[in-house]
Amino acid sequence: MIITYPHMGEAYIAVKGIFDNLGIKSIIAPFTTEDTLRLGSRESPECVCLPFKITLGNYIKSIEAGADTIVITGSCGPCRFGYYGPLQKQILQDMGYDVDFIIIDPPKENPLDFLHNIKKLSNGKTSKAIKSIYDAYKVCIEIDKLNEIQYYVRPRTKNKSIINNIMYNFKREVLDAHGTKEIIEVIKATGNKLLSIPIDKNTKPLKIGIIGEIYTIIEPFSNLNVEERLGNMGAEIHRSMTIKHWAENNLIMPATGRKGYKMEKRLSNPYIPVLIGGHTQQCIGHAINYANLNYDGLVQIYPMTCMPEIVSRTILSQIEKDYNIPILYLIVDEQVGEAGYQTRLEAFVDYLRERKYNHKLSEKF
Ligand code: SF4
Repeated sequence: MIITYPHMGEAYIAVKGIFDNLGIKSIIAPFTTEDTLRLGSRESPECVCLPFKITLGNYIKSIEAGADTIVITGSCGPCRFGYYGPLQKQILQDMGYDVDFIIIDPPKENPLDFLHNIKKLSNGKTSKAIKSIYDAYKVCIEIDKLNEIQYYVRPRTKNKSIINNIMYNFKREVLDAHGTKEIIEVIKATGNKLLSIPIDKNTKPLKIGIIGEIYTIIEPFSNLNVEERLGNMGAEIHRSMTIKHWAENNLIMPATGRKGYKMEKRLSNPYIPVLIGGHTQQCIGHAINYANLNYDGLVQIYPMTCMPEIVSRTILSQIEKDYNIPILYLIVDEQVGEAGYQTRLEAFVDYLRERKYNHKLSEKF
């Protein structure tokens, strides 16, 4: 069994740690590029959402590199994600690839099925696998800390290319590390390098929250590196959902008898009291939370045809009015043009700056 898994931001680092700890060979797909998307789009239904197309491209590349088993998380929620695995398996079979799919649903949906899949993946070493998952969670904690350092340093330093170089080397070094312990050492060392970059502590950057569909806010290829772009424009950003956040709410809390996404559900309840699939309640909850924390603006990112986020989009217009917070809406698919995307971000940042400046003036006089 040679395992592979799709890319979704930094998730590969934590998943690699799990399989390294278990001594199981896994193949990490090459980082997503235009070619990956082209491969996946060619074989996908035209109107399916972008993550389906990109992850299919990831699988094709991994299979060509020798993988024979694909591991993904699943969900029974009422959106397309529930049929990603079965449909992608069918497409790959039609292409002549004989691969096995292991779809791991969160334990709260089917605890026995979850344990069965963990046992299968770990060759019967279930308790060691559960410890490895917990160690991978610690990796996710460190990844979030590293990103927060980036978010802080980027708008406050003049030389943005130093950050890019450090992060480029990080991707190479983390692939060479073996197991969660070594991976955490690499992440911490990278954080220290970022912290040694000279910054202007007097800079007061705009604060922008990133909300929307989980895959497109986490996977930088799909959102055209929105975090880096906004950081380079002088904004300190915060990503509302991360792999750690997902793991806490879908694995750790249910495993200890607690309900996940409490804050998000409480805040979003007046606007959307029921689960409609995807992360609509989380998106609305985070938008309100950022507004309460006095963020200057929000960017909602979601794939074209994403049903849950189209619902969020309509509610967010009301949140803008109710909470007096500007929101930029970015829809992504394989047709997105980089120049138009960059222009919209620049215009939004200019608008937020002007708004903040005018607000300060009106407070003064
Ligand atoms: S949340 Fe949206 S993008 Fe994600 S699988 Fe569901 S419909 Fe597709």
